[in-house]
Amino acid sequence: MAGFQNPAFATFVAEIKDELILAQIRILRSNRGFEVRHASDQARPAEELKSIFLADIRVLCDFTDADQFRPLKSAPNLRTGWILLAPDDAALELALHHLYPNAVTDWFTVKSGTAPVTNYREFTARQSGMYRITAKLSDAQATDVIRACCDKKFCLKQRMWSVEGLAPDPAAEKSAIPCLEPCAILLEFARKGMRIEQEEKVTVALSPSDAASLKAALTLALQHPDSQIREADFNAPGNPRRLQLALEKLNSHGITLANAPEGE
Ligand code: SF4
Repeated sequence: MAGFQNPAFATFVAEIKDELILAQIRILRSNRGFEVRHASDQARPAEELKSIFLADIRVLCDFTDADQFRPLKSAPNLRTGWILLAPDDAALELALHHLYPNAVTDWFTVKSGTAPVTNYREFTARQSGMYRITAKLSDAQATDVIRACCDKKFCLKQRMWSVEGLAPDPAAEKSAIPCLEPCAILLEFARKGMRIEQEEKVTVALSPSDAASLKAALTLALQHPDSQIREADFNAPGNPRRLQLALEKLNSHGITLANAPEGE
């Protein structure tokens, strides 16, 4: 008797014609099953890549090149330089389970029109304890937090949930992996975002040119993130999502990179 086949996974496998890119991986059909590698290694000869086995995939997914733990598997920091041969559907399913947990199931629910999307308000309303304050962010504040946390620099899932005034992610911007409700990283970041809002404010009178310089500095810092700061260490002022949040706030106030016009 044939074994049970997960209908979500069977539908996903049927989508793989010759090859398929899913977030940061490329899946290629071959006469030996499926070849999986990092999408950016697409043009590299297989001999240049390190052959890994299913037993290795968990470690591969858990750490970055800088040996930092990856709490968010959809973060665009998957290691490169490896190749995995999955001999059959079951092996590919197991590999994907580690690379992008729940991705295929969530993708299938979206495809079949049954995706259980939970928006920010509904999600935060049911939080208790230290996370209750996440419900206190205004729509505008929550928008800055969400835009910063879910930016494609930090996560490749397509955010399908939202908050009043913020559209879901456009389909083409990230990947086919849907995000159906705020994740633990978002929740923690929203908590920090609310704590920041509750701090007594310092007032600094910035000229438009100074504000533009500040924005340029943040943009530069985001291009060269400190790899020693843990992804979810939101107490670190240099955490990339903190920098992005500051940038979103400047954007919300209409600060552009252009300097103010030259005077006489
Ligand atoms: S909530 Fe945002 S950061 Fe978290 S998985 Fe979804 S899109 Fe990614």
